[in-house]
Amino acid sequence: MLTIVSQCWLCRQSLYHPRHGICCYCKRHLPKLPPCCPRCGLPCTNTALPCGRCLNAPPRWASITFVSDYAPPLNRLIKKLKFNGVTQLAPVLARLLLLRWLDACRQGKVIRPERIISVPLHRWRCWRRGYNQTDLLAQPLAHWLSCHYSHMTLQRVRATPPQQRLKATARRKNMRGIFRCTQSLRGQHIALLDDVVTTGSTLNEIADLLWSEGIASLQVWCICRTL
Ligand SMILES: [Zn+2]
Ligand SMILES: [Zn+2]
Repeated sequence: MLTIVSQCWLCRQSLYHPRHGICCYCKRHLPKLPPCCPRCGLPCTNTALPCGRCLNAPPRWASITFVSDYAPPLNRLIKKLKFNGVTQLAPVLARLLLLRWLDACRQGKVIRPERIISVPLHRWRCWRRGYNQTDLLAQPLAHWLSCHYSHMTLQRVRATPPQQRLKATARRKNMRGIFRCTQSLRGQHIALLDDVVTTGSTLNEIADLLWSEGIASLQVWCICRTL
């Protein structure tokens, strides 16, 4: 019989629960989040209320749930998932997000969504990579939470040049009209999932589209939020 010895992705110790991918010790010692605004996720003083930035220019979603800043050690795992084809990491990272979301749900901060929508890649980029990492994160989450999920719900009509070097206003312009919705979402509670959220311009663009489709509520989920 073949025995698979699983090691923690962070410390290489063998795992008691192989499917978890990260040992209890490493999970407990992930960097603690500073107090964050429940709506945009950026650091703030009062975690019960939206921050000044959100009062000024509210994001088009009600809440954000994320595991950590885009920083070690999780940013390394995201890069492995995204660029090195280590797709086994998707359920490992998805589980960390699930635990964070369940915590927020128990505290009454979020409602259970009916449908998860993942941020799509353009089909050429998806074809070159062989998969969309966000799709791989959404599948186990939809299974665990009994939500509807289809990678086809949202389509990227055209590719965008990488956004990293653009300023926020240029990013928004860059994103206009590049997504299309393929299913009726009227009256549905939606969780929009991305691997990493930086400025939120992609999410705001998708949120506009989803609201125009008549959704009932929108929350954002991501593994890492750039703080
Ligand atoms: Zn470990
Ligand atoms: Zn805020």
